[in-house]
Amino acid sequence: MYFASDNTGPIHPRILDALARANTGYAPAYGADPLTAEVVQTLREIFEAPEAAVHLMATGTAANALLLSTGTAPWQTIFCSRVAHIHEDECNAPEFFSGGAKLTLVETVDGKMTPEGLAAAIEAEETRGVHGPQRGPVSLTQATEKGTLYTLEELRTLSDVAHRYGLPVHMDGARFANALAGLGCSPAEMTWKAGIDMLSFGGTKNGLMGVEAAILFDPARSMEFELRRKRGAHLFSKHRYLAAQMQGYLEGGLWLEMAGAANTACQRLADGLRDAPGANLMFRPEANIVFARLPRATHRRLFEAGAQYHLWDDTLDGGPEDAPLAARFVTDWSADPAETDRFLSLL
Ligand SMILES: *Cc1c(COP(=O)(O)O)cnc(C)c1O
Repeated sequence: MYFASDNTGPIHPRILDALARANTGYAPAYGADPLTAEVVQTLREIFEAPEAAVHLMATGTAANALLLSTGTAPWQTIFCSRVAHIHEDECNAPEFFSGGAKLTLVETVDGKMTPEGLAAAIEAEETRGVHGPQRGPVSLTQATEKGTLYTLEELRTLSDVAHRYGLPVHMDGARFANALAGLGCSPAEMTWKAGIDMLSFGGTKNGLMGVEAAILFDPARSMEFELRRKRGAHLFSKHRYLAAQMQGYLEGGLWLEMAGAANTACQRLADGLRDAPGANLMFRPEANIVFARLPRATHRRLFEAGAQYHLWDDTLDGGPEDAPLAARFVTDWSADPAETDRFLSLL
């Protein structure tokens, strides 16, 4: 009953096979190997973006921080949601890698920025001349940190707001595949066709050992990105092992298969939670994350039976047993339906 996070799960065996296949002989280092060139080409095809710049690295924080710092001046501010990973969970990496750009937090509804909220936040910055921050990129997360999805229409509207002010749009796609499987659209539709300028394309949370791709749909700043990646100590020397994982991921649509499995597991869990006594879903689960409130006593029982998940801004000790406590449940590609059913029967 492992619902703590999708990065607690195993690597897909086909990824390990891809690593083993790449593990023969010698190959040029630092991304000059043929496998990396192949992966770049495959991602360009998948995204219908033949010109896009594609660079691999090992963490999502690096992909976000390096993309967001590219083209951003230290005196600018990055617009993101109040619950954004770049705000809550990256130890100020975007601020650090940009040399001091700040974040302007935008209010959210169900984990999503609204066009009105974004426009108001943008309007409120760059109003104090040299004394205040200048407007910088907009970053949005798909799937969101609350397990909801921006529709294509919502993505387009938010991008339009940003572009109206001449600001580029970044997508944190740590769970890009889960979002894509949830919406059932094409990668191009969910990105550049909806006005997304740069993408952190996640892999680790969806069954890789540790690879994310940074994609710049306009390659003009590709060299700047590469310099920042090297200077930021994120240029992997034995690069073919990053590429091998990504190749195994994309081959035969494995990435979408895995995301589909994780999303299906989440729906099974969410359906059970919806019907459970005293349980309340907090957001509409549209990918592989579900938030629910359950009575303290129920959490206690589940934890004692070995269930693994995180309480959210609540603690088990020190309150009435019937008090509803918020929790987050995340499913991954390897989720076992029998374990989900065991969890639900305990519930
Ligand atoms: C996990 C995650 C990341 C990347 O985190 P790393 O631990 O640096 O790989 C980025 N954004 C979101 C929304 C995430 O959930």
